[in-house]
Amino acid sequence: MSATWKRVLAFLVARPLIAVAIAAVVVGIILLGTHSQKTPVTHRTEHVSLTDAQQMQLGDQQYAKTLRQDQARIVSSGSDYAEVQRVAKRIEAVAARDKPKFVWRVTLLRKNEANAYCLPGGKIVVYTGILPVTRNDAGLATVLGHEVSHATAEHVAERLEREHLTKVAAAIIAGGVAFTPGQYLRVLAALGVAGTLPFSRAQESEADHIGLVYMARAGYDPNQAVEFWKRMRRASKGKEPPEWLSDHPSDAHRVERVEKWLPEAERAYVPRKPS
Ligand SMILES: [Zn+2]
Repeated sequence: MSATWKRVLAFLVARPLIAVAIAAVVVGIILLGTHSQKTPVTHRTEHVSLTDAQQMQLGDQQYAKTLRQDQARIVSSGSDYAEVQRVAKRIEAVAARDKPKFVWRVTLLRKNEANAYCLPGGKIVVYTGILPVTRNDAGLATVLGHEVSHATAEHVAERLEREHLTKVAAAIIAGGVAFTPGQYLRVLAALGVAGTLPFSRAQESEADHIGLVYMARAGYDPNQAVEFWKRMRRASKGKEPPEWLSDHPSDAHRVERVEKWLPEAERAYVPRKPS
């Protein structure tokens, strides 16, 4: 910093009113960097810094890494593959109305774990271990509807914003090194692949709500979501909850909450002829 600037700063800091005015301008500039968006379905206003393009870059980097690491586990034929592609296509078409820039794609991995997630920007990963619980297309649509809602509602970007990790995420996107390993892990956790608690309870509940309306818009009977969540509750009774349930807290009230949103979802439901 030049001597002139130091003098100017010293002058300003000595005058509290001016300092307050400067702080206001700085805060204003920071706020300019964020954009506010309304979440789909729930119409909640949220502020995030990462643009759609940055969210896609962040998610795509992680997606490419996962596909490299689990290349031998990728399922690319058979009835499970066909089901996941069929249901994902319909859910993605609905989600794309809210996020037209995102590029949606789904990959099925042979893993004995009841798990699925959608990265920021629209890349979805499903483990074969969840298929016995989803049982049918509507069950799978419940899970995919929930997961893509995290992406369209920009929950990761919101999480990074709240934890002041947006700059770290931007550095990761740019391939920079302006972050510590701990910060890097927290961004990965927010992406939902590090096994910690990435989403808040409110975000989980919101994803249940949006996902229910999405599955109905995609032509799946939303009443089937209630049946799925009951199966999920039974499946996890008396034992350690599966990993995806530990980041998707299944409290006793989940089924009741979903039932409360059913009338709204039923209004969005247009049954489809089987194709
Ligand atoms: Zn979730």
